[in-house]
Amino acid sequence: MSNLSKEVSQFVDHISKRNPHEPEFMQAVTEVAETIIPFMEDHTKYKEANVLERMCEPERVVMFRVPWSDDQNSIQVNRGFRVQMNSAIGPYKGGLRFHPTVNLSVLKFLAFEQVFKNSLTTLPLGGGKGGSDFNPKGKSDAEVMRFCQSFMTELSKHIGGYTDIPAGDIGVGAREIGYMFGQYKRLNNEFTGVLTGKGLDFGGSLIRTEATGYGLIYFAKEVMDEHDDSLEGKICAISGSGNVAQYAIEKLIEFGAKPVTVSDSGGSIYDPNGIDTEKLEFIKELKNERRGRISEYADKYKGSEFHQDITPWNFKVDFAFPCATQNELPLEDAKTLVKNGCKGVFEGANMPTTDEAVAYIRENKLFFSPGKASNAGGVATSGLEMSQNAQRLYWTRDEVDYRLKMIMKSIHTNCVDYGKESDGYVDYVKGANIAGFVKVADSMIAQGVV
Ligand code: NDP
Repeated sequence: MSNLSKEVSQFVDHISKRNPHEPEFMQAVTEVAETIIPFMEDHTKYKEANVLERMCEPERVVMFRVPWSDDQNSIQVNRGFRVQMNSAIGPYKGGLRFHPTVNLSVLKFLAFEQVFKNSLTTLPLGGGKGGSDFNPKGKSDAEVMRFCQSFMTELSKHIGGYTDIPAGDIGVGAREIGYMFGQYKRLNNEFTGVLTGKGLDFGGSLIRTEATGYGLIYFAKEVMDEHDDSLEGKICAISGSGNVAQYAIEKLIEFGAKPVTVSDSGGSIYDPNGIDTEKLEFIKELKNERRGRISEYADKYKGSEFHQDITPWNFKVDFAFPCATQNELPLEDAKTLVKNGCKGVFEGANMPTTDEAVAYIRENKLFFSPGKASNAGGVATSGLEMSQNAQRLYWTRDEVDYRLKMIMKSIHTNCVDYGKESDGYVDYVKGANIAGFVKVADSMIAQGVV
């Protein structure tokens, strides 16, 4: 083992001992340590200030009880969290996730990633993440509202327009944000931009709903431009059928690509004829209005197939866009993608590709963009929503879209600056980690030992 890899494993062991039983958090830390520790060898000021270890420790974690009454008047209890990871470059910013799998490890991994992602956006945003193990699926609107009000009653003590500005994530869409905003406003008697992803009538930004999916495809287009390639005519696999997947598909269609898969936690759809605008409208109505299962797609569209036990990575495609959840693309699937001639994987979800799969994809020199770079369009547009709220005005759709494009372009340029290797291959993982790290680390050093 080289001295450097020994140093990485010693660091990872040390952090792991302090954070036992947190596999997702340690996965995110390990991926960052592998690129940042070698970088710190040549930039010793970061090592001397012990910046990386400090970044692995959240500035604050709040955990709380969320009691609520269901429609049968039974009292339920869930657990609420907010991980305030790093405020070196701005107030904490990051989504809230409501899903039964939410625990401290998942939220710490998401908050840690968020610090790097927010730094990459060029906006003054620190990193945080929160949520609850509450499952909104199958609950009535009234139950979701009572839960959101109880959750916000406690969370409101720890957030604020200049402190911490949460947003949505899995299980937290416009409905949940609306209920939480209403409760915050009622408790504090102030109308302030304390949450992003708000409805357009009360402070929300145009394009915020579309931003993560659109931004992902803008990033992929930058990668294509860098390598004299194009998305036109390319066959694409997408996982998920929620917010990120829907708008990634919309932009892929606009750029002339052919999306052929979608999925949900029940299985995958393969449609060799391609998902066009009409089929996408069906998916939006199915998932957003009726909250139905993706298997219905195969009942409606002849020639498409529903597979309960197969991920979208088992079909012959040019590019893959994992847009569902963490660790949904394991090594076996990465091997299948490579075998089938796939040329690139662009993460729309957070950490959807396992460590081993990422290593395999990079070894095989496919394009690979980590979520912290390619899905940063969502939080970037949340930052633009904050700017509009602060100025008490609304920008047009074109203005927000233009800014989103420019931000994705600049994230790409930063990744290339720090990630281009001597043979011309761009290591976007290395590029994103170092570019995100430098700004936060320099700010932490400038602010002293706090
Ligand atoms: P949604 O809740 O809108 O959609 C999530 C989708 O993923 C659903 O189709 C869901 O299926 C599916 N899914 C969840 N778990 C699994 C699983 N184990 N296997 C297969 N499919 C699954 O969430 P978003 O689209 O907002 O978020 C998706 C990812 O993108 C997350 O990792 C999130 O952190 C990340 N992200 C989101 C941003 C945003 O702006 N929304 C910003 C940046 C990152 P089902 O319907 O069955 O639950």
